[in-house]
Amino acid sequence: MSKQILILPGDGIGPEITAEAVKVLELANDKFQLGLTLSHDVIGGAAIDKHGVPLADETLERARAADAVLLGAVGGPKWDKIERDIRPERGLLKIRAQLGLFGNLRPAILYPQLAEASSLKPEVVSGLDILIVRELTGGIYFGTPRGNRVLDNGERQAYDTLPYSESEVRRIAKVGFESARVRSKKLCSVDKANVLASSQLWREVVEEVAKDYPDVELSHMYVDNAAMQLVRAPKQFDVIVTDNMFGDILSDQASMLTGSIGMLPSASLDAHNKGMYEPCHGSAPDIAGQGIANPLATILSVSMLLRYSLDQAAAADAIEKAVSLVLDQGLRTGDIWSEGHVRVGTQQMGDAVVAALRNL
Ligand code: NAD
Repeated sequence: MSKQILILPGDGIGPEITAEAVKVLELANDKFQLGLTLSHDVIGGAAIDKHGVPLADETLERARAADAVLLGAVGGPKWDKIERDIRPERGLLKIRAQLGLFGNLRPAILYPQLAEASSLKPEVVSGLDILIVRELTGGIYFGTPRGNRVLDNGERQAYDTLPYSESEVRRIAKVGFESARVRSKKLCSVDKANVLASSQLWREVVEEVAKDYPDVELSHMYVDNAAMQLVRAPKQFDVIVTDNMFGDILSDQASMLTGSIGMLPSASLDAHNKGMYEPCHGSAPDIAGQGIANPLATILSVSMLLRYSLDQAAAADAIEKAVSLVLDQGLRTGDIWSEGHVRVGTQQMGDAVVAALRNL
C-alpha cells in the first residue's frame, strides 16, 4: 500500500527550501521504488491567510492520516501583531502536541567539508557528531496557567508555568537511552535541578530509567554549564537529553558549531516512530524570496523521514551521500560560503543534490 507523505511548506523561506526537498524526495521515491504519494497543505501564516487559523482542522486530520509530514518553517513579520493564540507558531505547537510528537531528535553533525564555516576552531569541532534529544510537547511552552495580569500595585505581570509529569520524563528519557545505545552508549541529561522543581523530578526519573540501561553511561549537567561546555569542548557529548526549552536553545547553539543552522535537520516522533520532519531553523524572513536560503537542512530532514518513519535506510544513506558529494564539489549557499568555494542559490543547491543522487 502506498505511503502518504504530507508536505507543509509554511512561510518565509519554507516554500523555497521545501520545493528543493520535494525534488529530492520524488527522485528517491522513483529510484528506490518507495511507493510514496505526496500531497500538500498549508500551515502557519499561510493557513492564517487562507483559513483564519494557523492550523485548520482538516489539515490536522490529513497529518494524522499521513505516514509522515515534511514541514518547512512558519512565521514572519506579517503575522507578528495578531493575537498570540492564533500566531503561526501556535500552529506548529498544536500539530506537534496533537500528533503526540514528544521526541525531537536534532543531530548536529559537522561535515568535514564545512569545518571552516564553524565559528569555533577546526580542532575543537572536527568530527563533531552530537544528537540532541529534546522533549517537545511538554514543559513551559505548553504549561498552564500562563498569561498576563495586573498586580494590586497596578504593575503588569506576565507568567508561564513549567510542569513535567513523571510519564512525560520517562518516555523522553527512554528515547535518549535508546538513541545512546545505538551510538557511543553515553547519555548526558541536561537540567536545572539546583533551582527548578520540575528539573529535580526530571533527574529522579532519568535515574530510574537508567536502571533499565546498565550498558549506557549516564551523566547529568546543569543547563548553564552545558551551554558553556558546548562551545568549550563540544566533542565530550554524544547524546544529550533535555526538556523542551533547554533543548530549543541548546540545539540552536549546537547548530552554529556545525557552520550554519541551514544544515540541521530534525525529526519529531511519536511513540510509534510516526513523525514530522523539519529543518531546525525558522522561516528566515530576512532572506525570504531571494532564492538564497540553504535547502540542505530540509533535504537532510527528508533523509531522516525515510530512515525513522519509513524504515528506508538505503534511500536515507543515499541522500546523505549526495549532500556530502555536493559539498565536495565546493558548492555553498551564502550561509556556509567561504573563500575558494562556489556560491549557489537555493535551487542550484537542490538541483546539485538531485544530480548527485541520480548518479549514485
Ligand atoms: P530563523 O531561524 O528563521 O533565522 C535566524 C537566522 O538564520 C537568520 O539570519 C536567517 O536568515 C538565517 N537562516 C535560517 N535558516 C536559514 C537557511 N536555511 N539558509 C540560510 N540562512 C538561514 O530564526 P528567527 O529569525 O529567530 O525567526 C524568524 C521567524 O521564524 C519567526 O517568525 C519565528 O517565530 C519563526 N521560527 C519558526 C520556526 C519553525 O518553523 N520551526 C523555528 C524558529 C523560528
